[in-house]
Amino acid sequence: QSTLCRLKEKVRDIPDFPKKGVLFRDITPLIGDGQFFRLVMMIFLERYQRRKIDKIAAIDARGFIFAGALAHILGIGLIPIRKKGKLPYQTFETQYASEYGLNTLTIHRDAMRKGEQVLILDDVLATGGTAEAAAKLVESCGGSLVELGFLMELRGLKGKERLSRYPVYSILQFP
Ligand code: 5GP
Repeated sequence: QSTLCRLKEKVRDIPDFPKKGVLFRDITPLIGDGQFFRLVMMIFLERYQRRKIDKIAAIDARGFIFAGALAHILGIGLIPIRKKGKLPYQTFETQYASEYGLNTLTIHRDAMRKGEQVLILDDVLATGGTAEAAAKLVESCGGSLVELGFLMELRGLKGKERLSRYPVYSILQFP
């Protein structure tokens, strides 16, 4: 059995979460197993270690898990992109519609220098609304987007199409 199939089996399906009609892909069994979590990080490392990346931007909240680990291994600074009201300093903000409703993401205005090469990481690409908002925030700060990287992509929600103007990568693909 391939490595990717074994990784996929560690993702648990939760019907009707966080609301009726949504099939939630739960990554906690995967990250709760040290060997599988490490495997995911080795795949991200292999992809990004030779790229010129100045900062890794992490999307609130599960993006922090992977971005934090990768930033640590690569010795690169981490930038939190957070839900409104969480960041203490001056921010740029972007509103977007998600599967579940309207949300606002924010970033510190001084998070990066103009022209810095920024990788954005999150756990799941669904409709792409969150990732698109994150990409816009990085651009508002003058950053240049290297790629949007995800543990998994939910193909049926067409996030990759929505993000067609950016490079997008995912380790696992679900229907
Ligand atoms: P999007 O904006 O692409 O519709 O939703 C992506 C965001 O919502 C990501 O930040 C992700 O963490 C969260 N999300 C949406 N659906 C799922 C899911 O099925 N599983 C997990 N773990 N997160 C999800």
